[in-house]
Amino acid sequence: MNTLIYQSTRNTSIKADPSAAVLKGLAEDGGLFVPEEIPELPMTLSALAGLSYEELAFQILRLFLTDYPESELKECIHLAYGQNFDVPGIAPLVKKAGSFYLELFHGRTIAFKDMALSILPHLMTRAAGRMGAKEEIVILTATSGDTGKAALAGFADVPGTRIMVFYPKDGVSEVQKLQMVTQKGGNVEVVGVEGNFDDCQAGVKQIFHDAKLKETLMGKGFRLSSANSINIGRLVPQIVYYIYAYGQLMASGEIREGDEINVCVPTGNFGNILAAFYARQMGLPIKKLISASNENKVLYDFFRTGSYDRNRKFVLTSSPSMDILVSSNLERLIFHISGEDAEKTGELMQSLTNKGRYEITEDMRKKLDCFEAGFATEEDTQKEIRRVYEESGYVLDPHTAVASFVADSLLKEGRVDGSVPMVIASTASPYKFARAVLYGIEGEGSKESDMELVGRLSEKTGLSEPEAVSKLRGAEILHDKTIPASGMEEAVLGFLR
Ligand SMILES: *Cc1c(COP(=O)(O)O)cnc(C)c1O
Repeated sequence: MNTLIYQSTRNTSIKADPSAAVLKGLAEDGGLFVPEEIPELPMTLSALAGLSYEELAFQILRLFLTDYPESELKECIHLAYGQNFDVPGIAPLVKKAGSFYLELFHGRTIAFKDMALSILPHLMTRAAGRMGAKEEIVILTATSGDTGKAALAGFADVPGTRIMVFYPKDGVSEVQKLQMVTQKGGNVEVVGVEGNFDDCQAGVKQIFHDAKLKETLMGKGFRLSSANSINIGRLVPQIVYYIYAYGQLMASGEIREGDEINVCVPTGNFGNILAAFYARQMGLPIKKLISASNENKVLYDFFRTGSYDRNRKFVLTSSPSMDILVSSNLERLIFHISGEDAEKTGELMQSLTNKGRYEITEDMRKKLDCFEAGFATEEDTQKEIRRVYEESGYVLDPHTAVASFVADSLLKEGRVDGSVPMVIASTASPYKFARAVLYGIEGEGSKESDMELVGRLSEKTGLSEPEAVSKLRGAEILHDKTIPASGMEEAVLGFLR
């Protein structure tokens, strides 16, 4: 097997083996690790279609994580996908209202972050072990809701790791908060911060950039790391389910080997859709990659004009995991469309830091042909939840509804070919966002608590509650600590004694 080397998007002389890239997360110069070469699919599409999720994951991961021994990769894959998902297929594809919804929310925290965060802790500890890193790996995460819980569930009680999550005390949904404050595990800490998500994020970044603090912690046997979606160890496992979806379409006779499909992804940090782009580069027949935004439509504007501009008002929407103005993973796409030009990529990212905007060249724009983009307003999103429910009885969460609306509009406008099957990434269970979902279906708000709404959603739709939600009823609160935003470093030192 060939070795795959990773390089920084901003400096091609900064390189890392797969294990080092997974352990580091970010390159030393602030760039993101990208593979020097994107491997091709390892076998025919029919052969791939015959594999189980775990088998397929192995075939794909081994191409990208070439320095992991095979037995180790298999072990990591089994620990991640062997029993943490509530359906045997892991990522089922369901046909509703004319589209195919790729359900990525059957993991422990019922959002798609589980697809990668179930495996990342194992990839990290194996890498650390082989590289002779003796320190405990400490994951620090700031979360606006979904990532924190998925990271907690992924790292809880994984030997050799600890995890600490900071969330805005009054800035997450009740279900999200309950999910976090009831998290079990001897190596976890969850802290509410008096501030918003940006305060949490800024605090974590400051800690990461504090070389002296890092050294002090190293001296105590702790290595700080990040489970953020820029880690290649999160990106690569996400490629698997697009190939798996293609296999399911072949197996059910919807397509024949080699037929094209379209893929539409509700996009925030650009990780999920970038994985689909990599699947396409590997040879998966994807005609169009459709990036769907909510009212924070920076990406829509970028694809339309070639100019990325974060200087705008930040909008709070019913799809909070997509409320993002800087989509970090877009840097990897920029690198690829610049013709792997690290200097150019670095320049554009510098402009983003300094001016909050950058513009790509005409040549780069031409390479975005395989992308389409659209956005949904809050009203569009609510209507889409109702449309799909009324047409098919299928219940969408607001993030998925954004993508569903965009896919449907592009088809109606003739901007994508209607004869090509449309696969929509379904990124969260409707139970995680019961309030917004019921609002969409019923057209009016409610004063009930989130947990009451969960019960009502189940009654109304006849869908049974996922265990991830029912077990929150009466669960013991294990983390009730709240701190001012200025107290985060102290909290870290308190946890790592
Ligand atoms: C994180 C998330 C997204 C956005 O995914 P990116 O990889 O950041 O683009 C969409 N929907 C849900 C439910 C999420 O949790």
